Amino acid sequence: MATDRPAYASYVFAPPPRTWAAVHGSGDRFAVHRIYCVGLNYADHVREMGGDLARQPPILFSKPADALVANGSDVVYPPRTTNLHHEVELVVAIGRGGANIAAADALAHVYGYAVGNDLTRRDLQTSAHKAGLPWDVGKGFDQSAPMASLHTVEQVGHPVDARIWLKVNDEIRQDSTLDKMIWSVPEIIAELSTLYTLQPGDLIFTGTPDGVGPLVPGDSVTAGIYGLDTLQHRIVAGRE
Ligand code: MN
Repeated sequence: MATDRPAYASYVFAPPPRTWAAVHGSGDRFAVHRIYCVGLNYADHVREMGGDLARQPPILFSKPADALVANGSDVVYPPRTTNLHHEVELVVAIGRGGANIAAADALAHVYGYAVGNDLTRRDLQTSAHKAGLPWDVGKGFDQSAPMASLHTVEQVGHPVDARIWLKVNDEIRQDSTLDKMIWSVPEIIAELSTLYTLQPGDLIFTGTPDGVGPLVPGDSVTAGIYGLDTLQHRIVAGRE
């Protein structure tokens, strides 16, 4: 019985480059493994979305790693939507993996933090939600995850009550504080790690406060969390 595999010498096509994130004040690159996201994690945002305010298990979804967009890059208005929304979020970067991580131990698994924008095709997300279908087409599209550089825990500690805000052009659209999160960072890591084995390189978008709204080509988005690098990107016209 022939069990030997042939000696595979080359790929059919060149593998895509590994997605990575910049680290503030360093030439190091943070290789991205997966992008996890938490939905409806601020009460004021649950309210504006017409959701149920009773505390429920966190809503989890994901984006492809290559949806990440480096700070300052243009985002092309995505196809098949007429209602692209911004969602500023604290992003947690995992530095040490694990499964079934206790909330009390969770912060030891964090490498650092960044500001991210969970771009959302709201019309597709809403129609999928109403039909009981997955959110993927509303959330996991190309360039759907702009993120500023990571700050290490050594640089910024663990932000818990910092201001989080987002501006479109010169207008403040979102303005809240991290202590309004329904599920805290340790609780999110604990819950996620019961479903997936977390790996170094995982990113977790932790949910957005209220004030989400539409973006159109030509808009300039600026978003910040006190103590972290400000995220900036434009929206440019997409394919017709
Ligand atoms: Mn979100």
